[in-house]
Amino acid sequence: MDLDEAETAALLAALELQIAWGADEALEEVPQDRTRARVAPMPAPPVAEVTRPAVPSPPPAPARPAAPPAAAFAPASLRAGELAAGADNLDALRAALTALNHPLRETAGNLVLADGVPDSGLVLIGEAPGADEDRQGKPFVGVSGRLLDRMLASIGVERARNAYLTNILPWRPPGNRTPTDAEMTVFTPFVLRHLALVRPRHIVLLGGTAAKALLRRNEGITRLRGRWHQLEVPGLGPVPTLATLHPAYLLRQPAAKRDAWTDLRLLRRALDAPPPETVQ
Ligand code: URA
Repeated sequence: MDLDEAETAALLAALELQIAWGADEALEEVPQDRTRARVAPMPAPPVAEVTRPAVPSPPPAPARPAAPPAAAFAPASLRAGELAAGADNLDALRAALTALNHPLRETAGNLVLADGVPDSGLVLIGEAPGADEDRQGKPFVGVSGRLLDRMLASIGVERARNAYLTNILPWRPPGNRTPTDAEMTVFTPFVLRHLALVRPRHIVLLGGTAAKALLRRNEGITRLRGRWHQLEVPGLGPVPTLATLHPAYLLRQPAAKRDAWTDLRLLRRALDAPPPETVQ
């Protein structure tokens, strides 16, 4: 196999990342040629329940400001479903979010809708914009975004080429506090409409907030991660959905990168599998 300098550097970077994350032994008999990795077409991967050992709980996150009472958002939540349902393209979705006039809009700088290739077939969903994302109007451009880019690059996925990134909340919560349940309720119809418009073949939920908002399960992310779920997207149908750890969590808890690497390999395997109709 002939590789040019850039390809060799990219492969070495991916290898270094894997070693840094604890991938210190071969897990498959046959080496995978990532230089030939492809993304489309994508099949539905098997939905498997995996039993895992308990993962240590995260260290306490830095203190975040308290959330306002849920009642403050009631008027917005009443209009959310209707506004979201009326959006029949991405510009209309952006306009509908602005028309919602949610209180978070008052404190945020920019609406952060998405970045990447809308029809790539792969959508990754985070929690909410942070300060860098708020300034630039794009998701995952800060320190955790850079880690996410490196993680994705290690399995041949790039936002500029074959992935699309968005969040549950399109506006930064003041002081980066955790989204409230009421905020998640308001914005989930927009996320589902967003998914119906871009029609992913695979979805990745980054962290507990995205998993809680969309999977509607009580378990924490360390229990939900590492396996495929089916997310029912109105107007699209069930979409294979992988829950995994948020890159910000991995920055605080480097030992968890081993689990994240397991999840990335699951994703890569699903992206590489032949479409269901060609399976013998
Ligand atoms: N964390 C998220 O969940 N989303 C972003 O866009 C940035 C950081």
